[in-house]
Amino acid sequence: MSDSPILVTRSSMPPFEEYVKEIEPLWESHWLTNMGEKHRALEAALENYLGVDDLALFVNGHQALECVLEAMQLKGKVITTPYSFASTTHAIVRKGLTPVFADIKPDDYTIDPAQIESLIDEDTCAIVPVHVYGNLCDVDAIQDIADRHGLKVIYDAAHAFGVFRGDRSSATFGDAAMFSFHATKVFNTIEGGAVCFRGPELKTKLNRWKNFGIADEETVEYVGGNAKMNEFAAAMGLCNLRHLDGEIAKRQKVAERYWERLETAPGVKVCRPAAGITPNYAYLPVVFEEDEFGATRNDVFDALKAHDVYARKYFYPLINDFDCYRGREGFDSSRTPVAKHVADRVLTMPMYADLALEDVDRICDIVQACGK
Ligand SMILES: *Cc1c(COP(=O)(O)O)cnc(C)c1O
Repeated sequence: MSDSPILVTRSSMPPFEEYVKEIEPLWESHWLTNMGEKHRALEAALENYLGVDDLALFVNGHQALECVLEAMQLKGKVITTPYSFASTTHAIVRKGLTPVFADIKPDDYTIDPAQIESLIDEDTCAIVPVHVYGNLCDVDAIQDIADRHGLKVIYDAAHAFGVFRGDRSSATFGDAAMFSFHATKVFNTIEGGAVCFRGPELKTKLNRWKNFGIADEETVEYVGGNAKMNEFAAAMGLCNLRHLDGEIAKRQKVAERYWERLETAPGVKVCRPAAGITPNYAYLPVVFEEDEFGATRNDVFDALKAHDVYARKYFYPLINDFDCYRGREGFDSSRTPVAKHVADRVLTMPMYADLALEDVDRICDIVQACGK
């Protein structure tokens, strides 16, 4: 049991010696970035793990998302969810596109396909759904809508690395899927990200966009930025990937302990994986309904904090309530009442592979003591 503060997450790291061995060849080659040996090896390993033919690595997930929106040359409106991390909507807005918010489903917090169709008009070019907490969106319904209206689907799969439906990984749905390999994610490269997509055309574009639009020594084709992953990050990824299954198995034990302990309390809702899904146990969201439970989310947050346990109000506030978007047309959380309801009541509990089950029990005791 831990007597130091328990934070909401703790990054997975390989044994030190393993990482040192992985980076040793860099002292021979002096090749530190720009699609080097580790970069190529990680791309191949990830393509194999995810079951995809095409994948491009990036410096982080956010740049990966911006780059794919740009490389697809989208214009107009993009239907998305306000129940996500800032990155999702920021990427859309920063690329000059207009986000249109659909509400979420109350059971798994992903975008509600039934809300999407009525928001489509002649300016709509794409849908950017989010596999929130690793819960797969209703990918079939979304694809059906996209096909009928000729829209691109770009998944924010930042939470969904290691999630499979049958033998299909989360990378295989839609026109493209973005992953984040940030330190706090289930699989990390310290900072990093990737886009999975289909077709050689997008591959060339993405690889040029992330390197100033440079096509060859004498040709600069696009006004691209710099979003390349370096060799040290790629080496971290190669090591962490070897340990991923073990880390997920440990997370499963933690998640199941939380669910068993919390789901019987009245007014407390946990989120178990859907049938047919192999989950990654990325997050442990719990929703507290005050009238049944007898305490608010903020009461629980404060009680945990008083015991040096740091849960996170994730996602709160909703993106359509952010200060930076105040007064913008269409940014109004009263239009997405389910998302607002959940954002006001959700807390993600500490969740990481090495969290001791005794600590989970202690956390659950604190939570239960808040109820009536
Ligand atoms: C982490 C995250 C991102 C951004 O990824 P970075 O690698 O941190 O840039 C985007 N969307 C969601 C939902 C995320 O959780």
